Amino acid sequence: MNRIGAMAIGGLMIAAATRAQQPVAHRWAIVLHGGAGVIERATMSAEGEKAYRASMAKATEAGAQVLDKGGSSLDAVEAAIRTLEDDPLFNAGRGADFAADGRNELDAAIMDGSSMKAGAVGDVTRTRHPISLARAVMEKSPHVFLVGQGADEFSAYAGLEQVDPSYFFTERRWQALIKELKKEGMPLPLRPAGAPPPPPTSQIEPVQIEPADAHKYGTVGVVALDRAGNLAAGTSTGGTNAKRWGRVGDSPIIGAGTYASNQSCAVSATGTGEYFIRLTVARTVCALVEYKGMKLQEAADQIIHKELTGMHGDGGVIAIAPNGEMAWSFNTPGMYRARQAEGGKVEIGIYNDEP
Ligand code: ASP
Repeated sequence: MNRIGAMAIGGLMIAAATRAQQPVAHRWAIVLHGGAGVIERATMSAEGEKAYRASMAKATEAGAQVLDKGGSSLDAVEAAIRTLEDDPLFNAGRGADFAADGRNELDAAIMDGSSMKAGAVGDVTRTRHPISLARAVMEKSPHVFLVGQGADEFSAYAGLEQVDPSYFFTERRWQALIKELKKEGMPLPLRPAGAPPPPPTSQIEPVQIEPADAHKYGTVGVVALDRAGNLAAGTSTGGTNAKRWGRVGDSPIIGAGTYASNQSCAVSATGTGEYFIRLTVARTVCALVEYKGMKLQEAADQIIHKELTGMHGDGGVIAIAPNGEMAWSFNTPGMYRARQAEGGKVEIGIYNDEP
C-alpha cells in the first residue's frame, strides 16, 4: 500500500474512533399536559380555549428553547413546568385547587431518566415553584420524598423563592371549593388571610371561562428527550378540589404519577390520583415497553383504556421514549396537551376528537 493509501485508511480509523466516542445525537422532543377531565367544546368559551392554547404554546416554547440550545431534558422539564406553575389557569402553583380546610397544599415530582434519581414533595404551602423544590430534594438531599412542614422548611433552607400562602389563591378555584363543599354538606372554611376581598356575587360567574367540573383537574406535567438521549419527567399539582387536608395524590409518587428511565420511557399522569397510585400507572407503562417490548402508544393505551377504565378511574398520561416516540392517552372528554419534536411545529390539543 502506498503512503497516501495508508494515510487514508489511518484517517478513516481515526474518524471511526472519534465517532464511537461521541454521544449519539438525538432529535429533542417534548410533551406536556395541563390536566384531564370533563373539558368539552360545548361548554368551553372561545376566550377560555384561546387562553389555554396560548399558555400551552408558551410552556412548550420554554422547554423547547432549553432543548434547542443543547440543554438537558431535566432543565427543559423544570423550565416548562415553572411557566405553568405561574399561570393561574392551571391547578399547579398559582391557581392550585384548595383542600377542604381552605388551604393550598401542593405536590410535585421530577425524575431524571439517565441516573434514575428522583425528588418529590407533598403538601407544601409556601414555595412558588414546587417543581424546583422537588429538584432540590433530588439534588441537595439524600432523600427522594419530603412532605409537609419538613418540606416547607427544606425549601427555605435550599434558598427557593418563598411566597405567602395567599399567593396561590384564585377566585375561581375558591368558588369551585365552596361549591363542592356545599354539595357534600361539609363545613365551609373562612376565606384565607391575605386573599383579595370577595367580588360581589353577581361578578363570580363571569370569571369562569370553562365548565365548573373541569376545575376538578388541571395538574401539569412534562416529559422530554434531549439531544444526549436522556429522558426526564415532572409533574406539579394542587391535587383534587376539596381533597381532605393532608392527602397526597399520585403526582409526587414515583412510579404512579411520574417516572423516567432511559431504559424505557418517561411518563407524567393526570386524573383522580387514587386510581393512578393503585395501578402504579407511570411505571407500568414503562414496564410494558421495557419487558414486553410494546410500542409506547400501545402501552399507554393499555393502561388508560383497559386498566384505568376497568377500575372506573379517569385521567390520562403523556409519554416519551428514547427513540423520540411521543404518546398521549386519556379516557376523559378532554386533556390539555401539547407536543413538539426538533424541526417540527407545536401540536396542541384539548378535546378527545383532536389528534
Ligand atoms: N392526579 C392529581 C391528584 O390526584 C390530580 C390531577 O391530575 O388533576 O392529585
